[in-house]
Amino acid sequence: MGKHALLSASSSHRWLNCPPSVRLSESYEDKGSSYAAEGTDAHTLCEYKLKVALGLPAKDPTENLTYFSEEMEECANGYAAYILEQVETAKEKCSDPVVLIEQRLDFSKYVEGGFGTGDCLIIADSEIHVCDYKHGQGILVEAEDNPQMKLYALGALEIFDGIYDIDTVSMTIYQPRRNNISTHTVSKESLYQWANEILKPTAELAFAGEGDFKCGDWCGFCKAKYECRTRAEHNMELAKYDFKRPPLLDDYEVEDILSKIDGLISWASDIKDYALQSAVSGKQWNGWKLVEGRSTRRFTDEAAVAKAVSAEGFDPYEQKLLGITAMTSLIGKKRFEDVLGSYIEKPQGKSTLVPESDKRPPINTVQHDFNEI
Ligand code: SF4
Repeated sequence: MGKHALLSASSSHRWLNCPPSVRLSESYEDKGSSYAAEGTDAHTLCEYKLKVALGLPAKDPTENLTYFSEEMEECANGYAAYILEQVETAKEKCSDPVVLIEQRLDFSKYVEGGFGTGDCLIIADSEIHVCDYKHGQGILVEAEDNPQMKLYALGALEIFDGIYDIDTVSMTIYQPRRNNISTHTVSKESLYQWANEILKPTAELAFAGEGDFKCGDWCGFCKAKYECRTRAEHNMELAKYDFKRPPLLDDYEVEDILSKIDGLISWASDIKDYALQSAVSGKQWNGWKLVEGRSTRRFTDEAAVAKAVSAEGFDPYEQKLLGITAMTSLIGKKRFEDVLGSYIEKPQGKSTLVPESDKRPPINTVQHDFNEI
């Protein structure tokens, strides 16, 4: 069996929303990405740190990790500490909770060939706690109604529901680079209901390459996203916006456009990337040509340049204060707080317009303040 299931848990948000995307993207090569490779390294380190924290034998993988960094180590330490806390909490309910690391979870009862790996499972009498580490920092991942977590939970129930008298399942996303720990708890029955009424029939459609194409935020993770007609048509809808009259857009129209524009930008930039990569590989697009972009001059040998400038009696280097991260590494976290804490400020970030569902609190604008007087 391959390393990845055709209907994988990690891609379930996509195939549950757009079942035919599974077969449509089957013929595309899996190119991987540096983000995915970094995530794999982080998981390996987390596994090691957690095993050490639990007193289990483990081999330090650090020297083989391409993307190892101090930040990654901090994240992995935080993850191990969080899991230990959860184990202690579980011990309040049951004296001897079971902790499983990197557990293979089979949910093929509902999804053809479906399996995945749970980063950590804690089983304490009537509750299973499924924990998933996320190293990415681009998208904030919530545990609530998260299909990947629900699939892992079903895989965990498949193993333990007969052995223990489980009634609830908690699912946690631990995403340290977004300061996000998101937990959602559901009853076992509600999971089974979702599995039978939604998951199973949709997985059958996906496996057969049937069902309706549907465009949404999941398209960003679809291998067919560049050439998909549904996505193109969906985004081209905005271009058909009725701009005829009156001459100025009203607030409702601007709000409507705002709600569609991120998807449009992302689709447009995907099309540009795809067309460029194809052209670099030799494809000719009618009316388009490849040219050389702008470039800036640079030194070919910095050591030789420094030597030559010094010989001329000049200092070739500029002195610059270290940044906050490098300074913290230099003098240590505690000393940094003691000595430099009073010199640190966090300026207000640039204003960004986001949907109301975004978790950040709204900022007060001058107009707002004025209205409130
Ligand atoms: S790009 Fe979007 S709409 Fe098209 S197949 Fe993929 S997920 Fe479905």
